[in-house]
Amino acid sequence: MSLLSAASGQSRWRGYQYFTENKVLRTEPAGEGCFRALVAGSGEEPYAVTVDPEHPRRSVCTCPHAAGKRVVCKHIVAAYFAVFPEEAEKFYAEVLREEEEWEEYREEMNARLVRFVRSLKRRDAQDVLLELLDSAPDWLREQFIRDHLE
Ligand SMILES: [Zn+2]
Repeated sequence: MSLLSAASGQSRWRGYQYFTENKVLRTEPAGEGCFRALVAGSGEEPYAVTVDPEHPRRSVCTCPHAAGKRVVCKHIVAAYFAVFPEEAEKFYAEVLREEEEWEEYREEMNARLVRFVRSLKRRDAQDVLLELLDSAPDWLREQFIRDHLE
């Protein structure tokens, strides 16, 4: 398991931001493929991080989120990116690619939705609208009433 896949999506992205914001103050080898780092956080003192890329869950950080747990937090991710900047580049390229795919997917779904609605016969359109209104939140039903009945 790679270090990045051991971190949550949130920690990966925040860790990337910490890395690009130069919050990793320094790094040094710590033997057996491990690295020590100091990472600035929300506290006054920087957090002490040990990154174990081979065994991600053995990585440690002194922040409240990760201390004493086997959590790969944003500070560990940031330190990892500082030691392996090419992994940060790969990560960011992947994020851009996923955003592009998501955008294409949304456009495709929207186009299908428009085609579907345009193809509805009057009575079917009425049924779909009633179904939607039935499951709509109160504020939306009230707005619909204000816009169309008052
Ligand atoms: Zn941490």
